[in-house]
Amino acid sequence: MIWPDGKRFAFTIFDDPDSQTEQTSSLVYGLLEDLGLRTTKAVWPLAPTREPNSPGETCGNPSFRRHCQQLQERGFEIAFHNATCHSATREETIEALERFRDYFGHDPVTMANHYNEEAIYWGPARVGGLARLLYQSATMGRTSGRFFGHVPSHAAFWGDVCLARVRYCRNFVFAMLDTLQACPWMPYYDPLRPYVRAWFAASEGADRRAFLKTLSEPALAQLEEAGGACILYTHFGLGFVDDGRLHADFVSRMRRLASRPGWFVPAGTLLAYIEQQRGLQTLTDAARRRLEWRWLRQKLLRGTS
Ligand SMILES: [Zn+2]
Repeated sequence: MIWPDGKRFAFTIFDDPDSQTEQTSSLVYGLLEDLGLRTTKAVWPLAPTREPNSPGETCGNPSFRRHCQQLQERGFEIAFHNATCHSATREETIEALERFRDYFGHDPVTMANHYNEEAIYWGPARVGGLARLLYQSATMGRTSGRFFGHVPSHAAFWGDVCLARVRYCRNFVFAMLDTLQACPWMPYYDPLRPYVRAWFAASEGADRRAFLKTLSEPALAQLEEAGGACILYTHFGLGFVDDGRLHADFVSRMRRLASRPGWFVPAGTLLAYIEQQRGLQTLTDAARRRLEWRWLRQKLLRGTS
């Protein structure tokens, strides 16, 4: 792909809010800003009103909300990670999207499911057919019957709202740094999952260890050589800050990345650019099979997200 401004590759990060404090966020995003990177930070718009299923700050905290708004003013994208850090009803999800619009001025461009009941096409519904049976038996049914965002009869259903208000939703995560090579169809529409306007994939970096493993020097050189695109999926709340300081390996790796001729824009900007260049792809049955089995193989063998 030809990238803007003569850049040789595209790189961004999609960061979920799980386990993240405002202090961690300030340190990490301060570094990214200094290095000229503009990436995507997903938030929970609502404060929890029931037992949280995950620690991490929400936009219900005015101080954290202001911090996110300042990041947005500086060019970072704010994305959606479902309503809050526990399952939400349809009404709560709609309220969360209203708050999101109040806080950030528009609907979310991108989102990633949190493991709430209202997660959409999640768990076994990420794949179909034989791949689904294999996934269910490999996870021993732990993820079956838990996710209902796309199920119209359920109280957590919000598929129609998702279709109307969210442009890009994340599904598969792959081990390789070049996300576009792992999923050449993205962003794509999947006719079997019609409540999502368009899907994107990501590369594995769920915690600091996985992040640094995927973002290796050889992989970066290859990404640049191929003119590829990476959406590195992470939780900056998991191991990037120790004792109030950024982890040294993370800092040095990000410096080396930033010194390369990459197009460092948020995930929503990157996906919109690809879509503008070649239109939104509709996933064929053959492409879906290849994508699902490629992901499932990596999920089962390498534990990707
Ligand atoms: Zn999450």
